[in-house]
Amino acid sequence: VVIGGGAAGFFGAIAAAERYPNARVTILEKARTVLSKVRVSGGGRCNVTHAVPGTAAMLKGYPRGERFLKTVFAQFNHADTVEWFARRGVPLKTEADGRMFPTTDSSETIIRCLLDAARRAGVEVRISSGVERVVPENGGFEVSLYLGETLRADRVLLTTGGQPNPAGYDGLVALGHAIVPPVPSLFTFNVPDSPLRALPGVSVPAGTVRLAGTKLSQTGPVLLTHWGFSGPAVLKLSAWGARELAMAGYRATALINWTGGTYDTVRAELDGFRQGRSNKQIGTLPAFGVPQRLWQALCAEAGVGETTRWAEAPAKALNRLAELLTNAPFQVQGKTTYKEEFVTCGGVSLSDVDPHTLESRRCPGLFLAGELLDIDGITGGYNFQAAWSTGYVAGVSVGR
Ligand SMILES: Cc1cc2nc3c(=O)[nH]c(=O)nc-3n(C[C@H](O)[C@H](O)[C@H](O)COP(=O)(O)OP(=O)(O)OC[C@H]3O[C@@H](n4cnc5c(N)ncnc54)[C@H](O)[C@@H]3O)c2cc1C
Repeated sequence: VVIGGGAAGFFGAIAAAERYPNARVTILEKARTVLSKVRVSGGGRCNVTHAVPGTAAMLKGYPRGERFLKTVFAQFNHADTVEWFARRGVPLKTEADGRMFPTTDSSETIIRCLLDAARRAGVEVRISSGVERVVPENGGFEVSLYLGETLRADRVLLTTGGQPNPAGYDGLVALGHAIVPPVPSLFTFNVPDSPLRALPGVSVPAGTVRLAGTKLSQTGPVLLTHWGFSGPAVLKLSAWGARELAMAGYRATALINWTGGTYDTVRAELDGFRQGRSNKQIGTLPAFGVPQRLWQALCAEAGVGETTRWAEAPAKALNRLAELLTNAPFQVQGKTTYKEEFVTCGGVSLSDVDPHTLESRRCPGLFLAGELLDIDGITGGYNFQAAWSTGYVAGVSVGR
């Protein structure tokens, strides 16, 4: 019995049914539809995985679970995922930033593929079948549904997904597993006092965002929003800092470098402009790849009027401008979900699960896969990849 009809549950069920044709495989899904997260994922396009040169590069996308996944990916990795879908008539394409989608740009293609593969392999899918309890019994399990029915299973694969609430782990995982307390990952920063909130939509292609007092730092596109900051650099930072930020109540100082340079190199270039552009107005000629509206806002904050000529800019103002360009502090006060997309940091402790088989070390015969585990990735297809890989390895191990 596979409990949970999401990405990990379907991959596990299909792998088990294909590998063990004599086994009867049933997916029990509590909702009225299966694969609902796949449907809404990637803005309805389903970002299936990420194109990387090899497993080592893939592993760098997991703030939690990297070591565990190394063993899992040795059995089924991103390249196997691409091949798995291609063999079933679903080619994937790669976008410039490495994200991989079905060529149809529709998550329905992925859902249809998974439903077809499950049907062909003889997997029974039961919706509106929420599981209340799993009890080990005579070398197998008794699986009790909320609606009163009890099923008997030789093996159980648990793929109920991330639970934002610690109580969500109580019932099904109460078989001796340690739970790493869940907190959200993948969110954007609220900065109510930011003067840059007046510039929503402005994007800097390669900003660096650091969290003051930590070693956490990420480089990439930074997007200015009407509530604060978003964009890949911020989302990655929220993933790597998920635990620290939760402990700090989502209050932190974010230090942003908009330029890629250091204070000294930027300050020296500003001096160069003073000579080379002496008669030009500072506000009309942005530098360091900073978009014009942001450049003007930073100049204003540094005390340099837009129409000030470079030759007339006071050294003190240029010092301040160099500081704002390379180390601008912003007070983060809270978080906002990114396009409804989020994952759970935390879950079933990986020390309780064998990474070679995904079998529980606490409860033999019980397997666990997907976001239920204390594994989560950055955005870009990493979370589905963890679900496909752990689901697959659990599925091929479950009947051994
Ligand atoms: C809006 C959104 C967009 C996303 N987009 C992407 C993306 O493009 N790329 C990417 O890599 N990741 C994305 N993610 C993350 C990704 O969707 C998840 O990491 C992934 O779905 C986890 O798969 P899973 O099978 O472990 O869990 P889930 O997909 O959450 O599936 C768990 C299933 O178990 C069922 N269930 C729970 N409890 C019970 C019970 N007691 N009995 C029976 N059934 C139960 C649930 O109803 C659910 O269907 C997105 C997440 C969200 C919220």
